[in-house]
Amino acid sequence: MNSLNQTVTPTASDEKQRIWEADRDHFMHPWTDFSTFKETGSMIFTAADGVSIQDADGKRYLDGIGGLWCVNIGYGRKEIAEAVAEQICAIPYFSTFGHHTTPPAAKLAAKLAELAPGDLNHVFYGCGGSVANDTAVRLIHFYFNQLGKPTKKQIISRIDGYHGSTYMAMSITGVKVDHIGFDIDEQMVHHISCPNPYRRDPGLSEEAFCRQKVQELEDKILEIGPDNVAAFFAEPIMGAGGVIVPPEGYHKGTLEVCRKYDVLYVSDEVVTAFGRLGHMFASEDEFGIVPDIITCAKGLTSGYLPLGATIFSDRIYEVISKPQAEGAIFTHGFTYSGHPVSCAAALKNIEIIERESICEHVKEMGGYFEERIRELGELDLVGDVRGRKFMICLENVANKATKELIDPKAKVGNRIADACQKRGLIVRPLAHMNILSPPLILTRNDVDFVAQTLRESILEVTEGLR
Ligand code: PLP
Repeated sequence: MNSLNQTVTPTASDEKQRIWEADRDHFMHPWTDFSTFKETGSMIFTAADGVSIQDADGKRYLDGIGGLWCVNIGYGRKEIAEAVAEQICAIPYFSTFGHHTTPPAAKLAAKLAELAPGDLNHVFYGCGGSVANDTAVRLIHFYFNQLGKPTKKQIISRIDGYHGSTYMAMSITGVKVDHIGFDIDEQMVHHISCPNPYRRDPGLSEEAFCRQKVQELEDKILEIGPDNVAAFFAEPIMGAGGVIVPPEGYHKGTLEVCRKYDVLYVSDEVVTAFGRLGHMFASEDEFGIVPDIITCAKGLTSGYLPLGATIFSDRIYEVISKPQAEGAIFTHGFTYSGHPVSCAAALKNIEIIERESICEHVKEMGGYFEERIRELGELDLVGDVRGRKFMICLENVANKATKELIDPKAKVGNRIADACQKRGLIVRPLAHMNILSPPLILTRNDVDFVAQTLRESILEVTEGLR
């Protein structure tokens, strides 16, 4: 396991207690069960380097989740700190509304246009993935209004797709448990089923399953009416829904259906871009499609600073940049659209990914990672190991033959994550599953450590469930 370069002194216990209490009493955490949070509070992390993070007691862990699918180049990159400091000294902020820009915002847009597939040459900046998806919706609606097709507004996405937690992004999200207790826009968004090959009907071939899922999209468009459907949102590989790799041909098939009915295809690459699958963007290089819009965030800066982008085609740009009603302009944007410091971090991050051939490393070491984690499929508890390269999910089941789920009360995902944490590895629990999305710079030794630690942890939890 990589060790921290610098030794960071453990936080003094009274200071640690103060931080813990301030956090528990005042910091309202995202995605949190407050009933347990009020008792247990937070684990405090104080340092990170390479693939490792360190808690306030000085204990180190291999970060098996890359922060939150985002620290692609690993922690402690001084070059990013320098680029950010330089930009802050030069000009830390200026509005990009209208006809103003800064060098990093302009250069990064050109770089993203160069890296993105096809004619996706135009970049709109926000602060993260949810906003990138909301921007896509507003842009699409504006586009069809400009085209004189004001009824074309409805959005189709998939059950178990995750697209963020702003109002619109959460409405597009199809992870049903995420909707509990909240409202979503049910007038605007329609969900079709999840293309999860593991849960397909027994006896149905993967080809037939793919045809069925593609047909379902076409049927849904026809049901709503092609004149009413604006866009289809899909992640190349569904992340937070359980790392679902669709059957071979699914993305090409759904894109063809979209083309047939003039429905725009939005590829949500918030997780899959910037190396996670061994490509800068996975849509074309991994799945052979050129969508109309790509949304991205996370790995764009490797999490060093917040930034998201909506990258769209020449075709869309031509329409939305046509003159419209007298006095009307494109009224979409944020104070921090194209924030120069975030853009400087992103430029340096992309430079590092390219210079260190991180995509090549992922093709090789991510392949080894996939192979080693797939070996865990032989364990009694592990029903499915799926995903690609450094984006993997283990689905734990009660019965491998019937794929029956374990009683949620057993909290098996949490128990495995806790057992791993005890051994110095952070993995993410997701209901009965565990997710792995480590920094992309893992070495062979790191991969072996992750595989061995997970094996021991799963065996320990299996014993406890007997
Ligand atoms: N889209 C996908 C595929 C994601 O995984 C996420 C976050 O995990 C988002 C969108 C939302 O991004 P953010 O949390 O930066 O708003």
